[in-house]
Amino acid sequence: MTATTTPLLGQMMDVPLLVSSLIAHAARHHGNAQIVSRRIEGDVHRYTYRECEVRSKQLAQALIALGVEPGERIGTLAWNGYRHLEAYFGVTGFGAVCHTINPRLFPEQIAWIVNHADDRYILFDITFAALVDALAPQCPQVRGWIALCDESHRPAMRTPVLCYETLLAAQNGEFDWPLLDERSASNLCYTSGTTGNPKGALYTHRSAVLHAYGASLPDAMGLSARDAMLPVVPMFHVNAWGLPHAGPLNGTKLVLPGKDLDGKSLYELMEAEGVTCSAGVPTVWLGLLAYMREAGVKFSTLKRTVIGGSACPPAMLRTYEDDYGVQVIHAWGMTEMSPLGTLAKLNWEQAQRPPEAQRALLEKQGRVIFGVDMKIVGDDGRELPWDGVAFGDLYVRGPWIIDRYFRQESGTPLVDGWFPTGDVATIDPDGFLHITDRSKDVIKSGGEWISSIELENIAVAHPAIAEAACIACAHPRWTERPLIVAVKKPGAQVTREELLAFFEGKVVKWWLPDDAVFVDELPHTATGKLQKLKLREQFRHHVLPSALEVGDKCPLEPLDSDKGAASGATANTKSAATRG
Ligand code: AMP
Repeated sequence: MTATTTPLLGQMMDVPLLVSSLIAHAARHHGNAQIVSRRIEGDVHRYTYRECEVRSKQLAQALIALGVEPGERIGTLAWNGYRHLEAYFGVTGFGAVCHTINPRLFPEQIAWIVNHADDRYILFDITFAALVDALAPQCPQVRGWIALCDESHRPAMRTPVLCYETLLAAQNGEFDWPLLDERSASNLCYTSGTTGNPKGALYTHRSAVLHAYGASLPDAMGLSARDAMLPVVPMFHVNAWGLPHAGPLNGTKLVLPGKDLDGKSLYELMEAEGVTCSAGVPTVWLGLLAYMREAGVKFSTLKRTVIGGSACPPAMLRTYEDDYGVQVIHAWGMTEMSPLGTLAKLNWEQAQRPPEAQRALLEKQGRVIFGVDMKIVGDDGRELPWDGVAFGDLYVRGPWIIDRYFRQESGTPLVDGWFPTGDVATIDPDGFLHITDRSKDVIKSGGEWISSIELENIAVAHPAIAEAACIACAHPRWTERPLIVAVKKPGAQVTREELLAFFEGKVVKWWLPDDAVFVDELPHTATGKLQKLKLREQFRHHVLPSALEVGDKCPLEPLDSDKGAASGATANTKSAATRG
């Protein structure tokens, strides 16, 4: 037999994977499934996927009538609501790009992002009227600002604005979604990076649909047509983790909470709408817990929630499961990954292990979804073993992970085809990922890593502590040692010594924090993440008592944490300036 060099091509249809197919599918096969939104106007709005598709088509027609071309970017400044959902389909459906903007950023940052993305029109919720007035003069290339309301709610503004409902009313919704190239851009999100300018992740129709498939798998978010999903994660933060795509793919009822994300508002909406599953960052779940404790209430329909975006504290996981009967699915991902990478769910064999062993796995960030591949790499660039002990820089690859950043065509962030996440992790023999740090936040003591996240988890498990951060502090002998910066719960009492003693026996001795200080509040980014760089800057000259003991023999050097922080796990370098 002679070897053949030409592969035999299969004979299946070449149907492109398009975002519009998600809403078309939902409208046709789950036409009566509901989308419920708590509106900015104050009431609750309710309609179906069928109606959502018609209005999305009206939006597409309206934007085409305004002269928007395929490939152009349309920005959104909006909460989770049905009009925002229509933008997800109406903008992308004819080939334009839906650019969700985080309204919690500073106006100057937003203006920078709008200008960098070169947005043509911006759709905005009327709560952002003042913000739009501040932005408009700084964003001259934006052709028009569209208020997401009807004429009766049009806000009084300096900026001339168009009214969304008026634009839609002029269109009949008779529109065929065009067959686009599945590799064309669909959505754009900028990362809330802690250093440098924000960077844009430009998703494709193909990546968005594949990600929606992956997110829907039973061992991922496991959505179904019997679920009612309330995404607390904002639609301006990595496409609400793909839920606006995965929802219609499965015919899942969507409950969109609008702007009020406090515990009471969320609890009441969940109960009223029979919500079975939800997703959001730990901060939100803390608020919900506090409300439920105070009001003495429990969930009647909520079964599970995905918690990610930051490490889910083990104490939170336990409380939701043991006290409220809600399964917590800890997940990890990032903007550059659309965002889902891993989720913590047990397989059959793991579910037979003793309860504490099961918990230990569930507290980790979990196993990859099909489509994502991962590896950890040591200082020497070599791959580390999956033994649950070796720490390394985490790299990922897959069809919904970026290849390069938007408008940074010259350089790729990839290393040998892998994307460096900037996270530091272990992977255990079960294939469970455990994020131990951001590479910028790693504490390297005497050449060995200490996980700031683990120390923070212990600190917040102390009954008197509301929030805590663990940062690297300069040490003359060990280079860096951990410092706990903590916020006490209102009215709670705890001394520095008591807090430090609380760590004893919970971690190996050399991981024990060297010092603890109390502050009124910790700095957060616009997306609620701890701003460790800022904190490290604030405590740049903090002198650890343990440092004084050896201080005479070694000069104290403040950390210069911002420089070269992004590239490696040993990012904290010493400043040239020394203090005596
Ligand atoms: P973003 O792109 O803003 O979603 O941020 C992504 C980063 O958030 C990741 O690279 C991690 O550093 C962090 N992150 C996300 N999920 C988790 C998690 N479950 N545990 C720890 N860190 C997380």
